[in-house]
This record gives sequence, structure tokens and C-alpha cells, in this order.
Amino acid sequence: MKNFLVWFFIGFASCQAQTYCDESGNDSTYQETFTGSSTSSGRNITASGCPNHYNHATNPNSATVQNHNFEVYAYPCFANDTLNVTCTVDGLGILRNGVVLYGQAVGLTDCSDAVVSEADTFDYCGGHADGQGAYHYHIPPTCLLKQLNIAQEQSHGDILGWALDGFPIYGPYGQTKNLMYQCTDTGFANQSDCVDECGGHLQHTVDGYLYHYHILGNISDGVTNPVNPYPSVLFNPYSIACFRGVLKNKPFYISTTKSFSCSSNGYESGFVPEILTGVTTVYSDANNYFLGFVLIVVSIMLILQ
Ligand SMILES: [Zn+2]
Ligand SMILES: [Zn+2]
Repeated sequence: MKNFLVWFFIGFASCQAQTYCDESGNDSTYQETFTGSSTSSGRNITASGCPNHYNHATNPNSATVQNHNFEVYAYPCFANDTLNVTCTVDGLGILRNGVVLYGQAVGLTDCSDAVVSEADTFDYCGGHADGQGAYHYHIPPTCLLKQLNIAQEQSHGDILGWALDGFPIYGPYGQTKNLMYQCTDTGFANQSDCVDECGGHLQHTVDGYLYHYHILGNISDGVTNPVNPYPSVLFNPYSIACFRGVLKNKPFYISTTKSFSCSSNGYESGFVPEILTGVTTVYSDANNYFLGFVLIVVSIMLILQ
């Protein structure tokens, strides 16, 4: 009984230590710095881990402050082998609103498809929190894609964030505004603009990096809870399935017996990495409705002229 009371109070105290994220999105932070200027330098990324959008829990888990701190290569390199993370259930990358990107796996020892099992717990921006309160996405982050105008333009668009190997992450659209598929999905994939088994491709260089990842899947409407529509299983693994590059700091949750070394540079000659700014302004679908209304009024006025 005495032990029970001790554990009860320890449990109670640790529960109290959790800081919940603001449900309206006001606790998002994101900052990048370089940890040196040589080609072995790091890109250090810190973030609260709280999303910059509405995040009322649609599963039993509320989002809590995570204080993420990742260091990836500022000058990424291709590894001598790929590192499979299909069944890893934790951050494989971090996006510019400070939210971590997970892979396709559902959780703990279950490597099955999270979209099949849990899409009914993704909020309208496409994310949810895990049992530790870590808010994350498995699928395209609709609200961030809208804030960066990628959803509206259906464009390849800006870099959304960074994979742990230092290569950039983009949204679901290719260069010809096509939704990206794995190249092996021959019935759907544009063979000159599709992703390999890791979830990225070498087919075009848009930013000085010789490789980048894409988050696959259709974008949701951005207003319906839970997320609607959510990607079909055709888009599995939706996210990063293996790393092509070397991880500067391998997190504890990525276990492998292989050792990795750089086999070639992951960037064009003359490449100079840049610091990306965060996208921490609170996403508001109300603003989108207002903008839509203004556009309709302007269109009508132009037609009536
Ligand atoms: Zn999840
Ligand atoms: Zn691309």
C-alpha cells in the first residue's frame, strides 16, 4: 500500500509536469541555426512541438510541449546504404511549424498502416498526438500546405521541413502539379516525377540538394474533423520510408545494426545552405473563408464591369 501511494504521487507529479499545448495553436515555435560553417556543420532545429493550428484531441491524447531539438547535416550526403524506418514510430523529420513527421506505422510494435487504423483521429490539419503527447503528422499537413500556398497552387512549392538526414521534405505535388506516387505504382505514377522506395527522388533538383522527400497523399478540405478526405492506401507509406542520407545524430528510437558512411555529396557544387524561417503564425481557416469571400466579390465585380 505504501509503495502504491509513493507511485501514485510520483505519477501525479509527473502528470502535473506536462505542459499542454494551446489548443488554438499559439504555442508553436521553430528556429534554425547552423552549428559551424564547414561542410560537416549541422543545421540545429528547435521547436516547442506544438502545432500552429487548432489541435483539440480527437483521440485520448492531448498535445504537450515537446521541446524538440534536432541536428541534421547542413550539407547532407548519400549514405552507402539505406536505413529503413518503415516501422519507426517517432520523428523522421521536422516541419517548419515545429511539428514532427512520422512514418506510416501506427505505433509501438504495430507496423501496420496508421491511416487505415487511425485516420479517424487525425484533426482537420492532418495530425494527432501520441501517448506521450507528441503531436505529429503521417500524411500531408493540409494547414501548413495552405499557409505556404502549396494547396491552392497544387505546386511543388517551398521546402516544408527537414528529414533527419538533412535532405528537404516537400508536399504531395510534383513539378507538373501531379500528385506524387511511388514509381512502382505504375498505374498511377508519372514515371518522370515519382518517388523511390524511401519516399524521395533524384529526378529534379530545385534547391541545390540532389535528393528530396515528398509527403504523399491528397490534401484534405482543411475544415472537417476528423480529416476528410484522407489519403487512400495507394499512397502508403505517405512519408519517409527509409533514409538515403547519413544521420548526423541518430535518435535513440532508430535502431539499426548497420553502420553508415557518406558515399557522395548530396548537393550541387557551389551549394550554400540557407536558414529557413518557421511558419508559426496561427493558421486560421476563418481567414481562408474571408479570403475566399473577397476573391468571389472581386471576381463578380470584374465580370460585371
Ligand atoms: Zn500517429
Ligand atoms: Zn520533387
